Formats: sequence, structure tokens, C-alpha cells
Amino acid sequence: MKEISVLGVRLSVTDKQEIRHAVSAAIREGTKLSLVAINARKIVRAADHEEVRRLLDTFDIFLADGASVVKAAEVPVERITGVDLMEDLCAHADDLGLSIFLYGAALQNNLKAQEVLRARYPGIRIVGYCSGYDDGDVREKINASHANVVFVAKGTPAQEKWIAENKEKTCANVYLGVGGAFDILSGSLVRAPRWIQNLGFEWLFRMILEPRRFSQLPELIRFERMNRKDRKRRQVKENENRKTRNQCSGTGVYRSADRSRPCAGGTSCEGVRCQSESAQEPGGR
Ligand code: UDP
Repeated sequence: MKEISVLGVRLSVTDKQEIRHAVSAAIREGTKLSLVAINARKIVRAADHEEVRRLLDTFDIFLADGASVVKAAEVPVERITGVDLMEDLCAHADDLGLSIFLYGAALQNNLKAQEVLRARYPGIRIVGYCSGYDDGDVREKINASHANVVFVAKGTPAQEKWIAENKEKTCANVYLGVGGAFDILSGSLVRAPRWIQNLGFEWLFRMILEPRRFSQLPELIRFERMNRKDRKRRQVKENENRKTRNQCSGTGVYRSADRSRPCAGGTSCEGVRCQSESAQEPGGR
């Protein structure tokens, strides 16, 4: 699976179909596959704390969960949130041979989420569950259920830590952190309408619904700053590379990007002038 890096954090360039294949392969071959949803907050925390970076590095697939992460990526990546991927896997549960364990959220939301999933996807096999607030025996419950997929809804970073620490101690093959997915499925949390998601403002919608999330604003602003700085750095580097490529060997004279024609102005030009021309070329996004 192709990977890029956004501010030092790995991001998988993938789609739901490829992920379904990876899930199916992990189950067939009896291997472990853990997936983490990457958003701006996680990237900022990884930049600040080495242990967060190390924790994220234990995962296998890195979903572009946040709209700002999708925007920051150097190549086009599909936005895949934890909740969307969970629903996609549930929709294909029968074909993929999934037996599912739901771990996390308040008990009533966990139970309601199961009810909704069973109604939506009739062939689905939900073989066990555990609330996220009374979970001393969750490992035993998972192992007794023989689940091959565990959706973990405990919030960040608790769910990522739990997956990293427990995936080898429990029987399932696939572990996905899904944040507030069970609350959304149960109807106790409203997700932003599709048009707001498409505009990239789901985070703002959630902040308005849950004002405590406004405390996350500084991290989001910091992400934008870090991203802008990184983009500038990449643009400078790109311009330098372009200059080197365009430099006529041995003469010290620069030409336009198209070597068959001279720079604007009709004649080959001096380095200084081309430097300023290349600086005006759009380098990044
Ligand atoms: N949660 C839980 N146990 C805890 C704390 C939280 O099961 O000790 C659940 C909570 O009920 C909610 C989910 O974790 O269903 C957190 O969702 P949130 O949207 O806050 O996740 P985040 O945005 O932090 O990934």
C-alpha cells in the first residue's frame, strides 16, 4: 500500500476497496492489521511528543480522516473516516467473513449501535461487545467471542493505546479505532450533513454541537501553521531543484523550463533573472 508523510506522520494512499482486500487477507492468513484515523490533532501531538509518534508507528494503515489532512497531503488522497470505514466493512461483512466485536462507548449507545447495524446490514455477525466504561474484562470477552474484527470507540488517544497494547493479546485479526462512531450510529450524536462534510467543516459542526471541543482549536490552528511552513519549505526546495535542472551545464546560464526555447524576453538570460522568474512559478498548493 502506497504511503506518504504529512508533517512526519504516515498516511496511506488507499481506498476502501484496497482496505477491504487487506482486511480479508489478514483474516485469511491469520495476521494482525491495525488501522488508525489520522487527523490534524494527532499530527500536532505526534510533532510534540515522541511517544505519540511511536504509538502511531505501530499501526499498519493510516486513514486520511481529517479534511485538513486531505488538503495537506502532497498527492490526492481519499478522505476515509473511522466511522465511514466501519460502515463500509459492516456493509461487506458477509462477503469478507467478518465476526465483529464492538468495544467502547456508553453501554446503551453500544447496544443501540448493534441494533442499528443489524437492521442496516442483515447478514452481519456481531459476536460480542463491551462498554468503554466497564471494561476490566474486555480481553477475555473478545477472546471468548472469537471475533476477527474489533471496532474500538474509546476516543483518542485511549483507543490507539488500547489497540497497540492489546492486539497481540487478543484473538482478532483487525483492529480499527472509530472514535464517536457508536454514538453516531445510536443517534445520540448527530453527524454533520454530507454537504458540510464535503466543504471540510465537519470539525466546526462538531465543535458547535460539543462546545468542549473548542479547546481543540489551538491544535487545529497550529496544524495550519505547521502545514503552511512545510509547504513553503517544499516550495523553496522545488524551486531550487528546478533551477538546478534548468541550469545550462558549464555555462552558468539559465534557461526556461522548456529547454528548446529561451527564457521570456527572447534570449537566454542570467541566473539572477531566472531565479526571480522561477520564484514566481507556483511550486506548491
Ligand atoms: N469513551 C469510552 N470510554 C472512556 C472515554 C470515552 O468508551 O473512558 C467513548 C465515548 O463514550 C465516545 C468515544 O469514546 O463514544 C469518544 O468519542 P470521540 O468522538 O470523543 O472520539 P475522538 O474524537 O476523541 O476520537
